[in-house]
Amino acid sequence: MSQFLLTEEQKALMKMCRDFMIKEVIPTSLDDDKAAHFNETAYKKAVEMGLHVLGLPEEYGGAGLDEVTFTLLQEQLHWGDAGFANAMGCAQFAYRPVAMAGTAAQKKKYADIIVPGGFGCFCLTEANAGSDVAAAKTTARKVGDEYIITGNKHFITTNTLGNFYVVFAYTDKSAGPRGMSAILVDAGAPGVTVGKKEDKMGIRQSPTGEIIFEEARAPAGNLLGKEGQGFKIAMETLNYARIDAAASAVGIAQRALELSIQYAKERVIFGKPIYQHQAMEFLIVDMAMRIEAARSLYLRAAGEVDAGNMDLKLCSYAKAFASDVAMKVTTDAVQVFGGFGYTREYPVEKLMRDAKIYQIFEGTNQVQRVVAGKELFK
Ligand SMILES: Cc1cc2nc3c(=O)[nH]c(=O)nc-3n(C[C@H](O)[C@H](O)[C@H](O)COP(=O)(O)OP(=O)(O)OC[C@H]3O[C@@H](n4cnc5c(N)ncnc54)[C@H](O)[C@@H]3O)c2cc1C
Repeated sequence: MSQFLLTEEQKALMKMCRDFMIKEVIPTSLDDDKAAHFNETAYKKAVEMGLHVLGLPEEYGGAGLDEVTFTLLQEQLHWGDAGFANAMGCAQFAYRPVAMAGTAAQKKKYADIIVPGGFGCFCLTEANAGSDVAAAKTTARKVGDEYIITGNKHFITTNTLGNFYVVFAYTDKSAGPRGMSAILVDAGAPGVTVGKKEDKMGIRQSPTGEIIFEEARAPAGNLLGKEGQGFKIAMETLNYARIDAAASAVGIAQRALELSIQYAKERVIFGKPIYQHQAMEFLIVDMAMRIEAARSLYLRAAGEVDAGNMDLKLCSYAKAFASDVAMKVTTDAVQVFGGFGYTREYPVEKLMRDAKIYQIFEGTNQVQRVVAGKELFK
């Protein structure tokens, strides 16, 4: 089955996700955004439905969906509220390194935290190590049968909710990126503090902030893979995250399009609905056209993953292109709504704020071009 022709099952799952967002999340979405409040009531219902573990392997309690279906559903969830969906999806992002490099015992232990509704955090970025990940300063030294971890991780999604952290730290700084390791640290372990929560422009339902490790302790058995494999594990996790981010950005853009079509039919100016002014009609057609192109690109990247081929160029193209589309489309949606679009009473300014982060995280769009350039010219 081509990834471009959806199965009946995929369509039914997409509808289920969209219906969930319409019923449980959208009614309070604007208020939750203003208050930067994560809708825990809706999250509990999502957990009952298994919407938070769509990508987790079936043997560990998840839905075990293929990448194409998983990303299609991420699009629907982000269509409803990108902040809520981002927070809900974060534990799966943090679990990816465990699924990739963990032992059977580690896979089970951390899935058993996530499946009932727990959160995990992917702790890579530091104040001076975002795009330049290798500049990280966090270290982990082995003392007896423990790792002692010291460093500050910044901009960590669900920092205030996390039950465990996948921490990327140098076990051997002299070896450069090959000296970085990935270590699982449980929330509440000695030496771990949750730092400040950022006051963000968008995806405000999803908490983001610092986690501080001061001589924090983790059993030596919490190492993922071998010492020195952390950088590789982080980069491979980000390849998946880029396709997911692309699908999420398309979800935001799709919502902006649907709201724009509805508004352009209802708003009458100079005696006719604004879509009958051709400049508005063409603006909205361009929004739709760009969204279709972005969707095709993320499905192509996801389809390659399902075929066993992680194509780094496609992951980067999809992430950069879809997030640029989301930014353009949501900005144009504000234009369609005119002055009302610029107010918080209407949902399109939120979509514009939400879209921006997709050009920044999971590797900025400049970094995506660096990655794609390396692939093209190698
Ligand atoms: C809401 C949010 C959630 C996040 N969640 C997480 C998380 O859960 N876990 C985690 O580890 N991190 C997370 N991050 C961090 C995120 O991945 C980084 O912010 C991002 O990688 C950029 O790093 P930086 O902010 O340090 O920007 P910088 O690296 O300082 O970049 C600044 C500017 O310089 C540009 N630039 C950098 N290098 C180059 C280059 N070589 N060529 C051209 N331009 C370049 C960048 O594109 C950018 O425009 C999150 C960030 C935010 C804002």
